Amino acid sequence: MEGILKPSMEWYFHTAIYRKRADINAVLHTHSPYTTGLAISGVKLRPITLEAATMLADVPILPFRYPGTEELGVQVGEAILGKRAVILQNHGVIAVGFDLFEALTTIEILEEISIMTFVASQFGPPKEIPPDQIELIKRLYRI
Ligand SMILES: [Zn+2]
Repeated sequence: MEGILKPSMEWYFHTAIYRKRADINAVLHTHSPYTTGLAISGVKLRPITLEAATMLADVPILPFRYPGTEELGVQVGEAILGKRAVILQNHGVIAVGFDLFEALTTIEILEEISIMTFVASQFGPPKEIPPDQIELIKRLYRI
């Protein structure tokens, strides 16, 4: 170990991600209140915006594991394959990226979509972007 700062207590999942994903150079972990709050109630994010439909189509909610444990590290290491982010139920969010900017953007978009979901839910079920429109956008932008 090098450097003067103490590693995060969550070093298990940070290192698990770097071991499993050669394409990842940044891992961010937050306790984003809206994203975490919706996950605590089991609310999965739906395609209510273009970003939600294309970038964050499938963000899994992982069952609670005690923070800072090897068990949580193993769980996250397996779940992060092919994903930009995972949500830890009753805990927070983990986002990954090629760099810190990409990981932070994912955290911000997740929280933005969660706030929209929360607000929309006060007035009825949130309306989703129709699947044919999502496919069209994916084709246009080659996503
Ligand atoms: Zn945490």
